[in-house]
Amino acid sequence: MTEITVENESKMLELGARLVRAFSVGDIVLVSGELGAGKTTLIRGMMHELGWMDAVRSPTYNLFAVYDTNPPVLHADFYRITNTQGTGVEDYFDTHLCLVEWPNALRDLIDFLSAKRIDIEFDGDGRRVQLSNISL
Ligand code: ADP
Ligand code: MG
Repeated sequence: MTEITVENESKMLELGARLVRAFSVGDIVLVSGELGAGKTTLIRGMMHELGWMDAVRSPTYNLFAVYDTNPPVLHADFYRITNTQGTGVEDYFDTHLCLVEWPNALRDLIDFLSAKRIDIEFDGDGRRVQLSNISL
């Protein structure tokens, strides 16, 4: 496990850019932390690095957004739900790099998946980010 402090928004974008280079199709990145912790900012940094120039927002109401990048990305936000049954999210696991905010709804499902799982956890108040299963 690696723990780092990210002082500001631009450093958070940089961290996302740096991390995404190590990810590929079939990875599931679980991004956990409170509202406002910086989860979407980190993912925005990843998407910019992949050349995505349009907006990147938490897909809180649609549950997920698909970006036609290389690798293709599924960006999910399961804040509103406790269980992913019926959402069809599993259809993307083998074909996309999956970036998931509020991943609790997925926890039962991912135990049965072969996909590589990466955990990124934000500490409540500070800007501390813990990374598991990745090295910087
Ligand atoms: P979340 O997706 O976790 O709810 P956001 O990524 O939307 O959080 O970030 C919430 C706010 O915090 C945004 O205004 C963002 O610019 C800011 N922010 C993100 N990371 C940092 C950081 N490391 N330091 C200071 N502000 C940050
Ligand atoms: Mg968010």
